Amino acid sequence: MSPGHVQEIKIAISKIILSMVTSADEATASYERICKEFLNRVIRAKGTPARMISNDLGDEPDVISSSGKHIARKFDALLPALKARFEWCVMNYKSEAQDYLGTQLGQLDAMLQQFLEQVPVGGTKENAIRRRITGIKREILPLAKWDQRFYTHKAMSFPSEVEFIFCLEGNPVAAIWHYNPLDEQGIDPKIQNHKQRDSLVFAVRDNWAIIKGLMRVGPNGYLDEVSRPSQEAGCMCRLQWVYSINRLPANMVTEKGHSELKRVQVATRAGVETQKPKSVTGPETEQGRLRSWLRRWTGRGNHRTK
Ligand SMILES: [Zn+2]
Repeated sequence: MSPGHVQEIKIAISKIILSMVTSADEATASYERICKEFLNRVIRAKGTPARMISNDLGDEPDVISSSGKHIARKFDALLPALKARFEWCVMNYKSEAQDYLGTQLGQLDAMLQQFLEQVPVGGTKENAIRRRITGIKREILPLAKWDQRFYTHKAMSFPSEVEFIFCLEGNPVAAIWHYNPLDEQGIDPKIQNHKQRDSLVFAVRDNWAIIKGLMRVGPNGYLDEVSRPSQEAGCMCRLQWVYSINRLPANMVTEKGHSELKRVQVATRAGVETQKPKSVTGPETEQGRLRSWLRRWTGRGNHRTK
């Protein structure tokens, strides 16, 4: 087959395939609709929506939040950040979807090129050629559902961003990255380096302990300098939040922090009801008050899993 003929057939086949598959723009529009619905539920709940409660009046059911009253109180102030993350997620989805679809189409194109170059004039019934045709069919069929497959790898992206913003309101000082081996089935090559992040501690920028001079950034840098779990397609990692400096690696605690910890330990051992050692545990949220009280007097750290 002549090179000109190969190109002609390839263009014709590509046109047929493109008419069959969802475009990256269509897939993004569908994702945007899903995220918008989620955002509306978050707004109605003033927090992460947990469940719907119907009322007798026949109105729209109420959405109950699982984020606590401290988030509901601050919700209006957090809304611009939530909307900004919504916009970002949609934009990121579009760019990743274009890359993913482009890679899939590129692989198919290379396969077609190879196949057409091997087909002699007048065609052939050779077994090898038949096998190649079967291979091409196998590539085309999943391509028709690429958008569904891509979405399943991205479904948690926006809810994770929302949860991230709410978690920061609990005044954490750092987060520990926990790698999930399921990342190996992810479709974004960028997640290949997540294994190296396993168990690393990242500092929260401008947190209360840094402001008070009790902790330093540490060797892994700030949390906002790396991607977050679920941002990259197929990432299943998670963050474990750290709320007090006694749960930090020693090299992230300053001299002042160490002496403050020592002071609290001595006070705890002596059982002296001194002034609350707030400086090592940070500002309290309503829901964390009892937990942090127990923590102070049992010497146990407070960390919460996302
Ligand atoms: Zn990951």
